[in-house]
Amino acid sequence: MKLLPSRLHHIQFIFINLFILNIINGVPIKNEDKASLIIDNICPRIINRSEWGAKNATSQYENLKIIPTPYVVIHHGGILHYCYDQNGCSEIVRSYQDLHINKNKWIDIGYNFVIGEDGNVYEGRGWNFRGAHAPGYNTQSIGISIIGDFSHFIPNVGALRALDALIACGVALKKINKNYAVMGHRQGRNTVCPGEVFYNYVKTMPRWTSNPIPVYDSLKPNSTVINHQLQEDIVSNNKIVTVV
Ligand SMILES: [Zn+2]
Repeated sequence: MKLLPSRLHHIQFIFINLFILNIINGVPIKNEDKASLIIDNICPRIINRSEWGAKNATSQYENLKIIPTPYVVIHHGGILHYCYDQNGCSEIVRSYQDLHINKNKWIDIGYNFVIGEDGNVYEGRGWNFRGAHAPGYNTQSIGISIIGDFSHFIPNVGALRALDALIACGVALKKINKNYAVMGHRQGRNTVCPGEVFYNYVKTMPRWTSNPIPVYDSLKPNSTVINHQLQEDIVSNNKIVTVV
């Protein structure tokens, strides 16, 4: 049965009220209920891989080294193709995946998530796995790319809202550190990504950092993961610390 939006809102309303009543009455909320509340109320719609027609990764993913991640890295696609509906955006996400697998020889699309100007989020490698998008930060960031080239203008409001919602969702799900820092791809290597004009916007995001420093050195395989409190301190105080 397909639920009408009004019916869905009604159910959500009841669910939220139950949640509040349970808090008042001191009744513990089940973890699965909490998770679904977060998804219903904070997370944007995420088009999963089968919905956008992804190919399987050619090999196994590696796990992220630090979850929740201290960084969110912002990209643009860098290609003058734009989309405003799910079909069009799915086609472009498939083209990004093909490029990354066939040309770059990566095991899959490099980003953790892709956002279209249709306002949807498209699942790449997701919340738990190391991406291939920003060397030095792949082990400890969620890489998000907006479809298109944003050298001369910023993405539309739908895409920017989805970006904010996705980050808020990641924090709520404890996949992104609550003291996360935002950086543009160009801060990690010599690239114009995420585009000159969009980068100026990224710099106005509340948690943008002017000086991102990896808290885990991905080049040293025996590096140890530092404890979360220290990790939070490093990110929030923006100290220049390289942990090995
Ligand atoms: Zn990039």
